[in-house]
Amino acid sequence: MVTEAKIAHTGKRRVVIIGGGFAGLQLAKSLRKADVQVVLIDRTNYHTFQPLLYQVSTAGIEATSIVYPFRKIFEAQQNLYFRLAEVQSVDTGQQIVETSIGLLHYDVLVVATGAETNYHGNAQIQEKALPMKDVEDAVALRNTVLTNFEKALQIEEEEQLNSLMDYVIVGGGPTGVELAGALSELRKHVFPQDYKELDFIKMDIHLIQSGPQLLKGMSEEAARKALQYLEDFGVKVWLNRRVKSYDGYTVTLDSGETLISRTVIWAAGVSGALFKGLRPESILKGNRLQVDAYNRVTGYENVFAIGDVAAMRSEAYPEGHPMMAQPAMQQGKLLGKNLARLLAGKPMEPFAYDDKGAMATIGRNHAVADLKLLKKEFRTQGFLAWLIWTFIHLISIVGFRNRFLVFLNWTWNYFSYNSSIRLIVGKKQENVPVEAATAKTEVGIGAQDRR
Ligand SMILES: Cc1cc2nc3c(=O)[nH]c(=O)nc-3n(C[C@H](O)[C@H](O)[C@H](O)COP(=O)(O)OP(=O)(O)OC[C@H]3O[C@@H](n4cnc5c(N)ncnc54)[C@H](O)[C@@H]3O)c2cc1C
Repeated sequence: MVTEAKIAHTGKRRVVIIGGGFAGLQLAKSLRKADVQVVLIDRTNYHTFQPLLYQVSTAGIEATSIVYPFRKIFEAQQNLYFRLAEVQSVDTGQQIVETSIGLLHYDVLVVATGAETNYHGNAQIQEKALPMKDVEDAVALRNTVLTNFEKALQIEEEEQLNSLMDYVIVGGGPTGVELAGALSELRKHVFPQDYKELDFIKMDIHLIQSGPQLLKGMSEEAARKALQYLEDFGVKVWLNRRVKSYDGYTVTLDSGETLISRTVIWAAGVSGALFKGLRPESILKGNRLQVDAYNRVTGYENVFAIGDVAAMRSEAYPEGHPMMAQPAMQQGKLLGKNLARLLAGKPMEPFAYDDKGAMATIGRNHAVADLKLLKKEFRTQGFLAWLIWTFIHLISIVGFRNRFLVFLNWTWNYFSYNSSIRLIVGKKQENVPVEAATAKTEVGIGAQDRR
């Protein structure tokens, strides 16, 4: 029998928020003066600034610079109770969520669970490719990249050597583009110093995009420029190609072409992160919850969804808002105000997205930005876009300490072309995808390397 989670009954109505990402964090903050008990549940005890994960995976900044503990964020908020737990299911009839620490009653439930990597049903790719969704993924990727080069030092045979030195990034959205740019910088400035015995002319970086242009959703100008920057940096961009299969060694494209690499990074889509118990009629394409203009999940009175997991369809956004930090934060903030209104018997305010635009950076001094300022569009590429990208990301990081550390790292890296975070640490190193079984024997990696 599952027992009740131990949490004080304050006599106030209880708002349970599942997920402390961009959306859940804003919501919890905006409820600080509301006359409710706020229970925030997350399976990690920290908030993650996902836009800089790619820099953790490419040894640009430390993982600890982009995460911040919830208990520190909310130390002064008296009505907030944080619980480190995973939500497994919900019983909306009984108004109870089942979590890894027990059952929890709610008066209002807010689903802010974000998204998870979408492998489009391909189990083989899911098993062999590396995702880029959380800090553990980013550190695992860093470990993999560095371990590959350590192993490459022991290899003579050309194809086997290339399989360790070449990278295939799937998905030409901001994550894929930013990763490809960062890896190409490392190839030029950093790896040749670290691994003097390896010839980095042999290191290929492939970026595969299913559509005709990169950065879908951004302007054609931005997409064209991003492609040009990447090609100038020596990244091999494959447009209009899909990955059909990957066995840990050979990547087969839908065109029939093949690439050899032991490291495929999967950044080709996400879908809503859901748990059991919500009515299937409310779940749309991409596993997102259909919500009305107040972020209320259709078919429920007291269940709301915000951020990536919510799809608020409208004429302007037929599939819901883009899965980005801004809509998530804006929805969280407004829902806080709306819940206070709702509980006071006042009408709620509909959500109107203030689109501030999108950006992507491609190595130092190069970025593309489609911005919206005072309802006017402003597009820029190159150094100015890079400065804007740098500034906006810096001020958005949670916590002064983290902002300061990232600033320090960036400044140091900018002038020195180097960082000292090239460490192989952590458990996920064991997941290094070197299991192309036959190839492994051929390359003669020592028994102690067989993970
Ligand atoms: C690599 C990467 C780069 C990105 N770059 C950008 C960018 O440059 N600009 C931009 O605007 N957006 C970017 N995004 C997208 C942006 O990060 C998301 O849109 C945003 O995080 C959505 O916020 P959210 O609150 O909905 O979800 P998240 O921030 O993902 O938060 C969800 C939270 O829910 C928790 N959770 C999930 N399921 C459970 C469960 N069952 N039980 C308990 N807790 C649970 C998770 O631990 C997490 O803390 C990027 C995303 C990634 C992955």
